Amino acid sequence: MRVCVLGAGVVGLTTAWSLVRDGHDVTIVEARGGAALEASFANGGQLSYSYVAPLADPAVLPKLPAWLLQRDSALRFIPRFDLHQWRWCIAFLLACRGPRARQTALELLGLGALSKAALHEIVERESIAFDHVRNGKLVVYRDRHDFDRAQRKMDVLVAAGSEQRALDASECAVLEPALTHAQPLLAGGIHTPSEEAGDCQRFCVALADALQRRHGVTIRYGTPVQSLVSEGARVVAARCASGDIEADAFVVALGLGSVPLLGALGVHLPIYPLTGYSLTIHAAQRRHTPRVSVTDLHRKIVYAPLGKRLRIAGMVEIAGLGDAQQAGRVALLKRQAQEIFPAAGDYACAETWCGHRPATPDSKPLVGATPYGNLWLNTGHGALGFTLACGSARLIADVIAGRPPSVDIAAYRYNR
Ligand SMILES: Cc1cc2nc3c(=O)[nH]c(=O)nc-3n(C[C@H](O)[C@H](O)[C@H](O)COP(=O)(O)OP(=O)(O)OC[C@H]3O[C@@H](n4cnc5c(N)ncnc54)[C@H](O)[C@@H]3O)c2cc1C
Repeated sequence: MRVCVLGAGVVGLTTAWSLVRDGHDVTIVEARGGAALEASFANGGQLSYSYVAPLADPAVLPKLPAWLLQRDSALRFIPRFDLHQWRWCIAFLLACRGPRARQTALELLGLGALSKAALHEIVERESIAFDHVRNGKLVVYRDRHDFDRAQRKMDVLVAAGSEQRALDASECAVLEPALTHAQPLLAGGIHTPSEEAGDCQRFCVALADALQRRHGVTIRYGTPVQSLVSEGARVVAARCASGDIEADAFVVALGLGSVPLLGALGVHLPIYPLTGYSLTIHAAQRRHTPRVSVTDLHRKIVYAPLGKRLRIAGMVEIAGLGDAQQAGRVALLKRQAQEIFPAAGDYACAETWCGHRPATPDSKPLVGATPYGNLWLNTGHGALGFTLACGSARLIADVIAGRPPSVDIAAYRYNR
């Protein structure tokens, strides 16, 4: 079957790989001049298969007033005259309810496990080098109450098969000596030894290359899709300035770009941009730079060792697509990173980046069918797109092939 995949971020490229594996004839259409130039460009690099903490969580609710008032808080809400923003926020608050958040975490754990196996298969078969490390992850807590709550959540995930253990502050510093300086700030940490990290953009560029050279996939870069042309309940073509691209099936993996394109067909997707920032620094001596991935939960900052570099990413802004805050927020991220890893590397020469997570209110991606019989969704991966991409790619390939998927796809319906 001829399948047209829209988008060459990590989700579109992994989708294309899963479809090629099933013998489909795949074309990818991408607006930008290369692979992974939007949300997949310089993300946090963490592959958090077992520590799948949705942003929508009951712990968020009591912190909201402080987040709204403090200028240097990790999460910021900048109200806009935009109905979509307010609808998204209300749905987010509803998704923070305890039972729903627990159910989401368990569902994401299943998709994470599928994704891990799928990523390993791609990496092995295509010999992809992307500064992949399997050093585990340590989530550190500064607040005793947050740490106690995290341990209770950990018990649920451990019962569901996740390998995790709680460490006190001194054990955190033993596991990760670069945290020695920050030890007095810490209440404790949760260690997940099976977690991984890597450079998402390097992964994507190498995968795009393999798809083109080894699997005969055509990638049409520099080709924005203007609309989808439908006839009855089927899509017949993706309309671009250079002409229509016809196919038997279409998979939308456009991240934020999915919203206007599908909206024009009457399919309204609950995806909103959550802005974040990253720094990439050349790492200093080993004892000052983390070897395991670290998440500072209080600041919502993640640290991932990528070869000789350290990727630092964080901040969540619910503010739409304007990036007027950029310089101030990057400076804040630098200051906050130096507070915990002061000698990790050359902060003055950091490469900086601002990106937008294509987020759903409940942190689950939108994977599966649309009202159009041959139009499929694989989008809305929010803060976990690198982690979940290979698994959701496999899911959508299963559904297109008519195979029963290995996790319950109903959990990822766009209109759940
Ligand atoms: C600061 C930050 C840190 C993050 N850290 C992590 C992390 O540590 N771990 C993790 O798992 N995830 C992380 N993420 C999330 C992850 O980066 C995203 O979920 C993921 O990259 C989304 O991939 P995507 O392919 O859906 O979207 P994108 O990478 O945005 O790809 C969509 C593609 O569609 C193209 N496009 C859009 N509209 C059109 C159109 N009309 N026509 C043609 N092409 C179009 C775009 O150009 C783009 O290339 C982070 C994100 C941010 C912003």
